[in-house]
Formats: sequence, C-alpha cells, structure tokens
Amino acid sequence: MKTLPLLALTLLLGGCAGGLRFDDSQRSVDHSSRVEFIVIHYTSSDLPRSLQTLTTGGVSAHYLLPADGRRIYRMVDENRRAWHAGDSQWRGRTWLNASSIGIEIVNPGYTDGPDGRTWHPYPQAQIDRLIVLLKDIQTRHGVAPVNIVGHSDIAPQRKVDPGPLFPWRQLAAAGLIPWPKAAVVQDKLRQLDGRVPEVAWFQHQLERAGYALPQHGELDEATRNVLAAFQMKYRPERHDGQPDLHSAALLLALPL
Ligand SMILES: [Zn+2]
Repeated sequence: MKTLPLLALTLLLGGCAGGLRFDDSQRSVDHSSRVEFIVIHYTSSDLPRSLQTLTTGGVSAHYLLPADGRRIYRMVDENRRAWHAGDSQWRGRTWLNASSIGIEIVNPGYTDGPDGRTWHPYPQAQIDRLIVLLKDIQTRHGVAPVNIVGHSDIAPQRKVDPGPLFPWRQLAAAGLIPWPKAAVVQDKLRQLDGRVPEVAWFQHQLERAGYALPQHGELDEATRNVLAAFQMKYRPERHDGQPDLHSAALLLALPL
C-alpha cells in the first residue's frame, strides 16, 4: 500500500517529461487534416502473402481488406506515413505518401495466359466493406471526392492497380467520387459531332482531370498509359489508351 502514492507521483511527473509543459487553454481556429488523398491498390496476391509483404518492411499500407470483407486490418496509424504510393503525382501534388491514406485490397490482379490477360474480379462483400471504410475516412479527414484515386491514377507509368474490374461506378453511386452523367456524355458526343479531338486536346483534358502527362501533342507511350488509366476507371470495356470519341465525351462530362 505504501507504494501507491509513489506510483501516482510518477504518473503525474510523466505528464511533463523532459521539462516541457504546455498550456492548451488557447487554441487556433483554422486547421485541417494532413490527409488529403485516399489511394486504392490491389495486393496482386492472396491474403497470407499480402500480410507477409505488408508486415515485413519495404512497403506498407494503412488498411488491408481481405476478399470476404469480414475484417479490416489496420496496419499503420492514420497519423503516420505508410509507404504505398511511391513516385506519384495527382493534381499537381507529388510524392503522395505524406498526404494520403493507402488501402490495399486483397486481389490477385491479373494472370497472363495464351489467350491474353485475365483480370480477377472483386467480391461484392469486399467492395461493400471498402465503401463503408472510405466513407468513414472521407468524413473524418474531409477528403475531396476528386482525391479518392487509384494507384494507376497517380502513377500511370508504373502501375495498373486496382485494374479495370475495380467498380469505380459503385464508389460514384455511393457519392464518393465524381462521375460523368450519362445524359451529359450523350450531349458531349453530339457536340463532338464525330470528330475525335487532337492528341494535345486529350493531354490538356487529362491534366485538367488530375493526371500528370506530357503536353507535347504526340501520342507517345506516356500519353497512352495515362489515357488507358482514365479509360480503366470510366470506360473499362476498352482501355487501350487510344484517343476516341467516347473517351473525349467522358473527359468533357467529368464534373470537376
Ligand atoms: Zn499499388
């Protein structure tokens, strides 16, 4: 019993360790979360391998979502930087690890076979769970809808995750991301009147949408990669990176 007051004293002194004391009675009014972006990935492996990769150093993510949607692993505190985005750019901002939350979704990605590339679908339970998680993060940090992105959006020259089978449309239906309205797309198609705009126009529009890409008017590989990333998201049926009328209409109809 004699040790109790001593313990209490130790706890009390712990509050001003190092001799620093703070007066919290006066607070600034304006401040915001350091989290401005949410980046969505697939792990390109199964759960055991994903867990191993994300717990042994080198790469990390704040959240890992298994296929059954039953559990969400929280692997890095949100106030800490996770290493998931790498060399990245979105709407003029670079190296997004510092200002983002990274979500890894357990999904094998794609398999290349004799008949071409096969992408692996996302179970609905997993997407349902993801949408709840995204809403929670977005609400707490005030993340702008345009800043909820895929790894392929912010690093289109290196990455294709979360891939063309990721249901961005469902995120849009849940009010999480901007989406071109079908009627507006039809309207823009009529305005284009069968004329596919020049490459420089696509480059400018893609930059306006947030992507980083050259603006030299040439249809080079870098430009095709970015257009393919845009198509994977908004028109996954064909994501060959070729400029076409429908992609032009989608770019014009995208609410930003
Ligand atoms: Zn990724």
